[in-house]
Amino acid sequence: MDIICTNCGEPYDTDFILHDAPTEFKRNGCLITACPCCEDRRSSPLSPDQRERLQAIAEIAPLFGDDFDGFAAFLEDMSYIE
Ligand SMILES: [Zn+2]
Repeated sequence: MDIICTNCGEPYDTDFILHDAPTEFKRNGCLITACPCCEDRRSSPLSPDQRERLQAIAEIAPLFGDDFDGFAAFLEDMSYIE
């Protein structure tokens, strides 16, 4: 199950975030505000649509607290992750 970085839109497996590389992420519960890809993504800016989508996700993520599975399922349901 994946959740995404709300800064650059990169999807990550929740196990990777929680267990493999927890120090690589800036996050508050389900809300990821910075990830290892953010630097690289600066050279290819997001479209306004993508920005808007990530903004919406950033507003919803805190509602899930630390429920990563619930949040991942939500993102999948909403087709935020293809
Ligand atoms: Zn990122």
